Amino acid sequence: MKTSPLKIYDTTLRDGTQGEGIALSVTEKLLITERLDQFGVDYIEGGFPGSNLRDINFFAEVEKLKLRHARIAAFGSTRRAGVAADQDAQLKVLLDAGTPVVTIVGKTWMMHVLEILRTTAEENLAMIEESVRHLVANGREVVYDAEHFFDGYKDNPDYALKTLTAAKRGGAANLTLCDTNGGTMLDDFRDTVVRVVREFGGENVGVHCHNDSGLGVAVSLAGVAAGATLVQGTVNGYGERTGNANLMTVLPNLFLKMGRTAFCRANLGQLRELSHYFDELANQRPNPKEPYVGASAFAHKGGLHANAAQKVARSYEHIDPAAVGNRTRVLVSDMAGRSSVVMKARELGFDINEQTPAVKGVLEELKRLEFEGYEFEAADASLKLLLARRLKVHTPAFEFEGFRVIIERRGPESSLVAEATVKVKVNGKSMHTVAECVGPISALDKALRLALERAHPSIKDTALSDYKVRILDSRRGTNSRTRVLIETSDHGEMWGTVGVSDNVIEASWEALCDSFEYKLLREEEKKRAAGKKTGDA
Ligand SMILES: [Zn+2]
Repeated sequence: MKTSPLKIYDTTLRDGTQGEGIALSVTEKLLITERLDQFGVDYIEGGFPGSNLRDINFFAEVEKLKLRHARIAAFGSTRRAGVAADQDAQLKVLLDAGTPVVTIVGKTWMMHVLEILRTTAEENLAMIEESVRHLVANGREVVYDAEHFFDGYKDNPDYALKTLTAAKRGGAANLTLCDTNGGTMLDDFRDTVVRVVREFGGENVGVHCHNDSGLGVAVSLAGVAAGATLVQGTVNGYGERTGNANLMTVLPNLFLKMGRTAFCRANLGQLRELSHYFDELANQRPNPKEPYVGASAFAHKGGLHANAAQKVARSYEHIDPAAVGNRTRVLVSDMAGRSSVVMKARELGFDINEQTPAVKGVLEELKRLEFEGYEFEAADASLKLLLARRLKVHTPAFEFEGFRVIIERRGPESSLVAEATVKVKVNGKSMHTVAECVGPISALDKALRLALERAHPSIKDTALSDYKVRILDSRRGTNSRTRVLIETSDHGEMWGTVGVSDNVIEASWEALCDSFEYKLLREEEKKRAAGKKTGDA
């Protein structure tokens, strides 16, 4: 049976921002809107204009964006009890938002009608129908979010269905069934959706699920299997409490496993990028364990797995990682044998095999470094430099001679200043530079740049994008060893480097040097590749 395309409804900017630790400015919300539109979701719920000024500003600005496909929705609730729809302040704010779509939430569950709204069953139905009708009469496409639908249906199925009938009579384009508390189990969920689809037809039924029972994705898929055709969710599953249904998992499951499609199907290969883009803007650490898009989703550790995955990817991978924009990673760790090291080296572009004499030395050095606290899983660039040095295919672009950092406060009123002095030899010439900054690491970064930029202007293109400090043995208190991971980017690439020391400044210095050295190694490689091309021609 051929199924029609699904509608994907993103509520990251509304429900997703209810999550702990997620706060987005208007500009960030606009950037995410553009990105979601590029990706091809059908609806983008922008916020709750009745709740705060920021969302009102967002709707004023979002009108100016030239979106290619997505329709913007403003979110609110049904009119208040006892107030005519055209007199209701909140519905007016929703219309003022000027969006093509308005999504309103209404009560399904009698307990909420009587105890929270403190109104009657009849008035609640009138509130739903009249609110929808008023919005439709003003030219809006209305998505009706049936709050606590599954709990309400369990308690009183007839009334629950009546609320949907009211919304439909009002002219709602879609009836979305919400598992607001996220407590519904799979069988109940599916049976309920089957019933609603039977009564109302699947073409205008949607699902909106939360992850409180760890089933946000599962029940969303069950809803689609039962006939729903619109799926709500958020990027990376952000949302209040344990979050909403994670679209980064829902979408590949629908498209790759269940044979369903939607407008954004063509862009599934950008899924990982979308996931990371959101994390970056929302200042969240990407979850490496996130299905499909996480850094560990296709990472193989240990000789046997890595070896098999390399030969036939399908042997240890449920999909081709490229389908969601991810890739297979071989992890080099102290579990690794010769073959993993060789595979990793080949992945990083070195032409070696198990018989290459340097491999033994590399393996020994890796084991020693990992024992000291180095970790290369997020520091491919440091690993690549280590290999390049060992295999003697790269001469360091600069030599370390010394550094000094002074931190001082020049009086009770003045602010803290860090001054770094760096001495390095570049192309045989000693460079001695000084820089001041608020923090010691940025001061070192600045001083080292000054020393390198004249001989290597491309250093100017790089920027530090992330800096992480990890205390390795916290039981040793201030004597603990420290691992620093630095992420650097230029206009097209991003790379990680690592440093370990008893002193956080020294660990940072080590990671910093590697990050610049890596940039220069890449330049060298690009030049070599370009030379080869002209040579061949
Ligand atoms: Zn919700």
